[in-house]
Amino acid sequence: MSDILKKIGETITETGKSVSEKTKQVGNVAKLNAKIISSEHSIGENYIVLGKYYYDTYKDNPDDDVLETVNAVTASIDAISEMKAQILAIKGLVKCVNCGAECPCEDDYCGKCGTKLVKPEPPVIEEEAEEVPAETEEAETDVSETTEE
Ligand SMILES: [Zn+2]
Repeated sequence: MSDILKKIGETITETGKSVSEKTKQVGNVAKLNAKIISSEHSIGENYIVLGKYYYDTYKDNPDDDVLETVNAVTASIDAISEMKAQILAIKGLVKCVNCGAECPCEDDYCGKCGTKLVKPEPPVIEEEAEEVPAETEEAETDVSETTEE
């Protein structure tokens, strides 16, 4: 083999080596990124558990720092429970407060446990009040127009 060919051969081998090294590095970075995402996912799930624990334990006396968040969760829980009751009412059912059985609205007592059924208020489906913007008849007094200079 001539020196030239030998050199070319060496160069190709070197290039091949560095390409496979690069590929390996890219692969390692991808693996690490995947592990990071997985760890972040795990943190997120554990935060949820912590948040749920905090909510269940301190919802009646939360720190001021998280008061808004705790109240937002409570509001959502209440809203969900109200909407579920409305769905049952629409279906003509009422949930037994004692055993959770869904009983026909016309019944006075739970067919499963005999507890007196608490009849819900007739469902108030809020028709998306079409907010027709009241035609502002009042001429908008543009303050910026007043030139007093
Ligand atoms: Zn019942």
